[in-house]
Amino acid sequence: MRTKLYIDGQWRDAANGKQADVVDPATEEVVHQFASASPEDVDLAVKAARRAFDQDGWSRTTGKQRAQYLRRIAKIIGERQQELAALETLDNGKPLPEAMWDVGDSAGCFEYYAKLAEELDNDEHAIAVSDDRFACRIRREPLGVVGAITPWNYPLLMASWKVAPALAAGCTVVLKPAELTSLTALELAAIAEQAELPAGVLNVLTGSGSVAGDALVKHKQVDKVAFTGSGPIGSQIMREAATDMKRVTLELGGKSPMVVFEDADIEATVEWMMFGIFWNQGQVCSATSRVLIHESVYDKVLERLVDEAGKIKIGNGKDEGTLLGPLVSKKQLDQVSAAVERARSEGATVVCGGRRAPGFDKGYYYEPTVLADLKLDSDAWVEEIFGPVLCVRSFKTEAEAIEVANESRFGLAAAVMTQDQARAERVSNALRAGIVWVNCSQPGFTEAPWGGYKQSGIGRELGPWGLDNYLETKQVTSYVTPAPWGWYIK
Ligand code: NAD
Repeated sequence: MRTKLYIDGQWRDAANGKQADVVDPATEEVVHQFASASPEDVDLAVKAARRAFDQDGWSRTTGKQRAQYLRRIAKIIGERQQELAALETLDNGKPLPEAMWDVGDSAGCFEYYAKLAEELDNDEHAIAVSDDRFACRIRREPLGVVGAITPWNYPLLMASWKVAPALAAGCTVVLKPAELTSLTALELAAIAEQAELPAGVLNVLTGSGSVAGDALVKHKQVDKVAFTGSGPIGSQIMREAATDMKRVTLELGGKSPMVVFEDADIEATVEWMMFGIFWNQGQVCSATSRVLIHESVYDKVLERLVDEAGKIKIGNGKDEGTLLGPLVSKKQLDQVSAAVERARSEGATVVCGGRRAPGFDKGYYYEPTVLADLKLDSDAWVEEIFGPVLCVRSFKTEAEAIEVANESRFGLAAAVMTQDQARAERVSNALRAGIVWVNCSQPGFTEAPWGGYKQSGIGRELGPWGLDNYLETKQVTSYVTPAPWGWYIK
């Protein structure tokens, strides 16, 4: 496990010598320490990224050249999948098979953007303009130095979603991972080093959000901030970035609805419902955490759900068969517990769970929980809990379901469960969310756009949209007529 910051191709201690702890959420033990970057370190890293972009020529490499680095990174991630997944489980608590997916998807993300980097080489093209005395061509260019700030729920994957397209576009990056889960970001730096990525192109600064993250957002030589995290920090970043017009993309929280119609396949629905809220212990921005069930099947669905939720094996993420690991931290456990207690005190029915998982002396384990009888304006129904807590309500009509589903300041994702094709199309079109799943919940694809409406964020990651985030568009217009322009000199 690495301890140091990766700046300009070198491993360094923090300038002020500060360190932070890695706590295993399954045992509550401190298992490691890593450097906690100071503003001075941020300055060094940004200046290295600036130099790599402006002078060393990374921004002028061809897409084909950049693709070779990205493919090497993808290959090494793939070769180290098991080991990286084990680090992710140690750091975040998630079950090992889920961590294996994340790492596999991270490798896939680098592979995908290698292909898009190559395509950029043929991207420049002419466009017809309304005055044929002029010829106009359009090219896209890397936008500069990127400050990438990532959360703790999918550490390596969220870093890959930013670093891979940014490098593919020809940008240089300073990555600041979440302080709770820094291990795989440091390994990503080591992988970039092994892939012989030029010094300064990718820098990784572990450390706190309020110190290192804040210094990165405020740094004058950063051109863009790509952020995934909570809404309040997202707003703060947007305000800071406005000072010098930094580009910003924000991937924030959600309270995504799932609408279950009376004709849904109940067994399949219960399975997706559980996946939608218990996967990664519910610490998923797109978790379908509000479920609306048609009144005619409400009791039946709830009964099956509670039955299955009771069978979920809770345990250390590295143990075989574990489906629900610990929450990421004591703070997260306290927040989830407090949200459930508040709901209970406001009159919600705790249908199952609703407490720390019994049988564990140590570890931040919380039971799979289902809350019912919630008021529409209650915090539990409206706010993101970010834990294994599902809120359910019944509805009578399709119109009511759509209205209640859309009644949220968030708009990241939504799911519709029905066997009626026409209804699936009608309802998915009516839902105000960036991602709508029909008869499923949570699948994501590197090729498809990811991001939210309303307060769930600004912009889209992944697919070609993810690459666009790191490009500027330039028009080059030439006067091609042999005759003079004739405006001043006749
Ligand atoms: P957070 O906002 O606390 O932290 C996210 C990152 O921002 C961390 O790296 C943190 O160190 C940094 N940070 C904190 N304060 C900062 C500051 N003042 N300036 C700059 N950086 C700062 O969020 P979190 O608790 O790590 O993540 C959970 C949140 O992330 C949830 O709300 C979740 O919904 C959201 N999330 C969204 C997506 C998505 O794709 N939309 C994906 C994952 C998580």
